[in-house]
Amino acid sequence: MDQRPLLEISGLHTGFDTFDGKVRAVDGVDLEVHAGRTLCVVGESGCGKSVTARSILRLLEGTGTVDAGTVTWNGDNIAGTGESFDVLSLEAGDKRLQKLRGGDVGMIFQEPAASLLPLRTIGAQLIETLRIHTGLDKKAARARAIELLDSVGIPDPHRRVDAYPFQLSGGMCQRAMIAIALCANPTLLIADEPTTALDVTTQARILDLIRSLQAEHHMAVMFITHDLGVVAELADEVAVMYLGRVVERASVEELFADPKHPYTKALLASVPVLGRDRGRDLPTIPGTVPNPLHRPRGCSFHPRCAEAIAGTCDVDAPPEVRLGSRTVECVLYESFEDTVEGASA
Ligand code: SF4
Repeated sequence: MDQRPLLEISGLHTGFDTFDGKVRAVDGVDLEVHAGRTLCVVGESGCGKSVTARSILRLLEGTGTVDAGTVTWNGDNIAGTGESFDVLSLEAGDKRLQKLRGGDVGMIFQEPAASLLPLRTIGAQLIETLRIHTGLDKKAARARAIELLDSVGIPDPHRRVDAYPFQLSGGMCQRAMIAIALCANPTLLIADEPTTALDVTTQARILDLIRSLQAEHHMAVMFITHDLGVVAELADEVAVMYLGRVVERASVEELFADPKHPYTKALLASVPVLGRDRGRDLPTIPGTVPNPLHRPRGCSFHPRCAEAIAGTCDVDAPPEVRLGSRTVECVLYESFEDTVEGASA
């Protein structure tokens, strides 16, 4: 693994002002993404996965605010020759921010139909991105757009380049969005539940496509999902999020072989296993993710945790404990290894 991470997120807090008060959607997230590797971010809906991803490129401005933290981009400095910078401290008009968005960092959103511009053809949207980030002229950009549509498996790309999003199926829109995200050969691809709305066959094809493009371009991938099957297939490292915090980080092998955090254990226990689960009810996690406006005191998972310790877990925020190369935010491991200083909320 490269020593210097491509992207380092540290102490990220993102919130939304509502009539009822500030919603702390992301509440102190630390993450690293390494060149050529895949980090999967998992958790139930409402855990802050998408808000974390959007905060990286400052795509929430106008709706949410990043209240604290840094997002350090080392992409220009992997070889120690360029400069690292904090994306959150750049001025809105800074050229480095423009270069990152759609250039060094490609992003695939959850709902292609909502993210593609409905009144512009797929080709126009691709050509515009290509011209901004690669400097190609209009003719060369159109030729490249057709090539890209072909590479993501869109049949008849010469015709489809002039199609509007409503003329394409969900799977084809998702592929078109992948083509736009990849057109400038990004160093990092952020994919926010890119296959959630798709049938399983199309989902498998899109995952294959991301894997093969990653191998070809040595691209890093930050993949957000709640599907642990996808995690097992794609991830090198996994970050498990709960109510705006990363509660466990580990390599995919460690996480599946020996989950530590009770939330991770419960997530894995709720995945059906062919043959094993015939005729029995699947375990579920009781309750739902609490409203971030009304966070439970102590560990925010304690009302749903099967291993909660009364008088401790409902009083004090748990420490973040380092166990070798992995971390877990839970009081059960407090005496095991190094406690990461200042980790508790
Ligand atoms: Fe469960 Fe307590 Fe650990 Fe939270 S700190 S996950 S409530 S055991």
